[in-house]
Amino acid sequence: MKNEKWKTTNGKSLSELHSQSMKLTILGSGTSVPHPDRASSAHWLQTASGSLLLDISADAAHRMAQERLDWTNLDAIWVSHFHLDHLGGLPTFLFGAKHAPQTQGRKKPLRIFGPSGIERIIKTISDSNSYALLEQPFPIEIVEVPPDAEFEILPGVFARTFSTPHTDESLALRLKDADSKLFVYTSDTGFSENLIPFAQEVDLLLMECSFRKNKPVEKHLELADAMQLAQQCRPRKVVLAHLYPEWDGFDLEADARELWSGQTIAAFDGLQLEI
Ligand SMILES: [Zn+2]
Ligand SMILES: [Zn+2]
Repeated sequence: MKNEKWKTTNGKSLSELHSQSMKLTILGSGTSVPHPDRASSAHWLQTASGSLLLDISADAAHRMAQERLDWTNLDAIWVSHFHLDHLGGLPTFLFGAKHAPQTQGRKKPLRIFGPSGIERIIKTISDSNSYALLEQPFPIEIVEVPPDAEFEILPGVFARTFSTPHTDESLALRLKDADSKLFVYTSDTGFSENLIPFAQEVDLLLMECSFRKNKPVEKHLELADAMQLAQQCRPRKVVLAHLYPEWDGFDLEADARELWSGQTIAAFDGLQLEI
């Protein structure tokens, strides 16, 4: 049954899915603060069975086009929480998709996953000026996801959520693809020991590291927090993103090596990684 679904969704067999690894493109390594080199949060994850946009900042649509990514056929969007540097591009992307010539022939659905309340936000924006953002040439499916949920986010890619100490609705995401590769995206989070079992031993841990040191708020991480999590989660690789301008001029990777012996990669806009 499942194999049939995979074939009809993307025309690929189970064995084909096993042969392709996930690829991550950092579209926005920055924050809500405007920055000359860092767009705000958006990351493109290409899997064997489809594409998933992890957060959708106001910069996301332009950055997808700039990286020559196939935004016309984007399969799913994950919204980690409702801060506008993670969500603000959703109405503009839907507005663009509604009217762009490239999407008029599209038939397959676009699935939007996010915390409870995401549907109300989209509908409120849509109704504020008769935008009719959910009336598209193709179906839109909104899926509200609670913490500790397990669900199939793309064919053969299974997801788990975890409530992070950032805002009430904030969720981290853990993915396992058909090849059993593991990926965690913390999005914005404060430090929590509870993240350790959730993010344990993944192939790639995409973690926020808002501040270098002396963080002004508890609801984000600074480098020492991030490296403590890395040390205890033992990922194969860490990518640190959501970098505030406080990081400008510092060598993040060198700083990280003093705290953790594993591989830490400083995110930049346009970085591409195989998972
Ligand atoms: Zn943020
Ligand atoms: Zn946030």
